[in-house]
Amino acid sequence: MRARTIRDLDPADLDGRRALVRVDFNVPMDEDGTVRDSNRIEASVPTLKYLLEHGARPVLLSHLGRPKGKVVPRYSLAPVAPILSDLLGTPVHFLPETDTDAAVSATETLEPGSVLLLENTRFLPGETKNDPDLSRRLARLGDLFVNDAFGSTHRAHASVVGVAELLDPAVAGLLVESELEAFAQLRNPRSRPFVVAFGGAKISDKIPLIEAFLERADAVLVGGAMANTFLKAEGHDMGGSLVEEDAIEVAEEFLRRPEHRLSLPSDLVVAEANAPDATLSEIVRADRVPSDRAAFDIGPRTRETFEHAIQQSRTFFWNGPMGLFERPGFDSGTVAVARAAAEATAEGAFTVVGGGDSASAIRQAGLAGAVSHVSTGGGAALEYLAHGALPGLEALDKAGK
Ligand code: ADP
Ligand code: MG
Repeated sequence: MRARTIRDLDPADLDGRRALVRVDFNVPMDEDGTVRDSNRIEASVPTLKYLLEHGARPVLLSHLGRPKGKVVPRYSLAPVAPILSDLLGTPVHFLPETDTDAAVSATETLEPGSVLLLENTRFLPGETKNDPDLSRRLARLGDLFVNDAFGSTHRAHASVVGVAELLDPAVAGLLVESELEAFAQLRNPRSRPFVVAFGGAKISDKIPLIEAFLERADAVLVGGAMANTFLKAEGHDMGGSLVEEDAIEVAEEFLRRPEHRLSLPSDLVVAEANAPDATLSEIVRADRVPSDRAAFDIGPRTRETFEHAIQQSRTFFWNGPMGLFERPGFDSGTVAVARAAAEATAEGAFTVVGGGDSASAIRQAGLAGAVSHVSTGGGAALEYLAHGALPGLEALDKAGK
C-alpha cells in the first residue's frame, strides 16, 4: 500500500474544486518579516502548478514557528505571499484568518488561477492537539485535501491529520511523493555498498535512526559532536568538547553490539573550547584531546577514510554536519562529505541528504544540485526512516501498489 497522490486523481476531482493544501512554509524569518531562506516555498511549486493547471483552486495552510496557540505577529505568514506569487506567476491572496467564516467565504470566492494563503495554523490553540472541532472547521475550507508538508507529516496535528480524515479525497502532493520515494529507497537500498554518515549535535534525537542503520548499512560513519559522545563512551577524555552525557549509555550499548558498523574518527581538529579560533586549531588523535581543548571537526585522516567510503558507496545517506561548519576553518569535514557525496552521485550512486543543518551545509558548499535528493524535512525524514510510517500519511487515502 502507498499513499494516493494528486496524480492518481481524476481531472473531475480537481477542476473548479477547492484544494486545501497543507504546505510547509516554516521558513527562517528575520524579526522584520524578511524571509531568509525560501527553499521550502520553492518546494511547494510543483504541486501548486499541477493543481492550477488542472483547474483546482488552491487554499494553503501552514504553520510557522512556535507561537503556542496565540496570535504572535512576527510569526504571520503574510511575508510568504508575495514570494510565492513571484514563483508561481499567479496572484496569491493572503487572509489573516484561518478557521473563520470569513476564511470559508474567501475560499468560495477565490477566482480560478489564483491561490489563497491563510494565516499560521499554530495561532489556533487546537492545532497541535489535533482538536476535532478545529479539524471540522478546517475541513470547510476545501473540497479535497492535499498533504504536501513533508516536514510536518510526523505531527498528529489538526491541519495534518484531523482534516485529512474528514476530506475525501485526501492525497499526497508531489513534494511528499518525491520525499517518500527517496526514503523508501534508503529503507530498501537497490544497490550496495550502502553507507550512512551521521553528525550534528545530538544523539538523543537520532537514536532510533542510528539503530535502524546500525546493522542495515555497510558502514555508519560518525562525525560532529555526535562522535564526541561515542568517543567518550569508548572511554576517551574529550576535554571541553560538546558531549551529550545523557546519551553515553546508549552509545556504549551500540558499541557493544558485535555486528555494529560504526566508524568513529581517528583524529580531530581541536581548538580552545570557549573561544574556538580556527587559526589556532590543531590536529590531534581522537584519544588525545587536551583537557583545555574541544573538538570542532573531524581530522584529515578521518576525512580521507570517510571520503573513500562515500566514494565507493552505491547508496548513501547523510544526516548531520561533521563539525561546527558554520565557522570558517571548522567546515573541512562537512565540505569533504558533501564533495564525496557529489562524486558518488556522478558515478551513479543514489545519494540523499536529510536534516535542516545538513541541507544548508550542502547548499553552502554549492552542491545541493549534485546529489540525488535533498530532503526538506528533518524530524519527519528521521521518523519515516526509523519506523517506515508517519501519522500524516496514515490519514491519507491508500492505493494498491
Ligand atoms: P541536522 O539539522 O542536519 O539534523 P543537527 O541539528 O543534529 O543537524 O546538528 C547541527 C549542528 O551541530 C550544527 O549547528 C553544528 O555546528 C553542530 N555541531 C556539529 N559538530 C559539532 C562539534 N564538534 N561541536 C559543536 N557543535 C557541532
Ligand atoms: Mg538541526
